[in-house]
Amino acid sequence: MTERFQGSFTQQEPIPEAGIEAALEVMRSGRLHRYNTAASEISQTALLEQEFAAYLGAKYCLAVASGGYAMATALRALGVEPGDKVLSNAFTLAPVPGAIASVGAVPVFVGVTEDLIIDLDDLSSKLDQGKVLLLSHMRGHICDMNRLIAMCDGAGIQVIEDCAHTMGGAWRGVPSGRHGVIGCYSTQTYKHMNSGEGGFFVTDDSEIAARAVMLSGSYMLFERHLAAPPADAFDQIKYQTPNVSGRMDNLRAAILRPQLRDIDMQVARWNERYAVLEDGLRDTPGLRLTHRPHEESIVGSSFQFLLLDWVADRVRDVIARCGSRGVELKWFGAPEPAGFTSRYDSWQYAQTAPMPASDRVLAGIVDLRVPLTFSIDDCALIARIIRAEVSAVYQAT
Ligand SMILES: *Cc1c(COP(=O)(O)O)cnc(C)c1O
Repeated sequence: MTERFQGSFTQQEPIPEAGIEAALEVMRSGRLHRYNTAASEISQTALLEQEFAAYLGAKYCLAVASGGYAMATALRALGVEPGDKVLSNAFTLAPVPGAIASVGAVPVFVGVTEDLIIDLDDLSSKLDQGKVLLLSHMRGHICDMNRLIAMCDGAGIQVIEDCAHTMGGAWRGVPSGRHGVIGCYSTQTYKHMNSGEGGFFVTDDSEIAARAVMLSGSYMLFERHLAAPPADAFDQIKYQTPNVSGRMDNLRAAILRPQLRDIDMQVARWNERYAVLEDGLRDTPGLRLTHRPHEESIVGSSFQFLLLDWVADRVRDVIARCGSRGVELKWFGAPEPAGFTSRYDSWQYAQTAPMPASDRVLAGIVDLRVPLTFSIDDCALIARIIRAEVSAVYQAT
């Protein structure tokens, strides 16, 4: 009998009951806007910011409308201007170069290695090409952050971390997002906490934090924040910083607060599933797993493997065969971007020279989501199906 997987790769878990209750309370009050508070009331958004800052050990935190907005705000808060070049990953998702383009800046792409991290040698050859690196920990793969930060510090480059896939992860025990000057997170449905849309911005720098708060559209209500710098940090910048509205609202914050309390448990559940997939696929002929160094604390919310140097038609064959058995794989090598899998050469507003070493890697990347609605047995079954189909196609070549 041929086994078939019946689950859905896009079905998330429900919002915790405590979040649903809290959301109903916000709706009953009618006070959804973060600055719409009753006398002596502290908004859900301000509380969430305080809790997220504490979770990461950050001095300042701002909750915003999306992860993409957090990144654009980070670029603005660092003074990136139209025409400036910003270093970023060739292997990432469209909101990253999109955030750079949204402030009129120009992405300079840095390559990807076979372990799906930023190519630090390529980065070292491009350090003179920008003053800011928007570093995307794409699909949760964290590079040697000590080496990266030393390189960037030496070159006077400020690092913004895109932690859309690493909320809850760390490098050498330092949370992802706390190595660079700013960390950005997303709470969009497919990330590690789910408010539909949403995001966070964290930093220890009071001037950058004050600018971000003003940018997000705080009017002159910044004293209602619990995780913003003191009022005097705003003296110099409050008339100089434009309002580019992108606040989070109390409804989303209410949904997120109980999820934040559970995040470490959720990370452990993802990692159990990741380990089962990894074990099930180890030593499959023709299939390369990514190496996860022991310094990296991962969040296994997605899984990647490489069919490196395979002919495109063979990869297509594997995707189709797995698909017919209910296992939905995404391929970064397809000539046309589909769903979420666009590549640096799909972003034609940011023209760039070809990157052959990265093209070779991108052509082999196969990606699957691991929602927590999958059981451990589901993950074992998915691994068996992928293993069988990759082996069958590989042996036929
Ligand atoms: C989802 C995502 C973001 C930001 O997402 P929003 O949808 O704007 O919240 C940023 N970077 C990566 C790599 C992402 O996958």
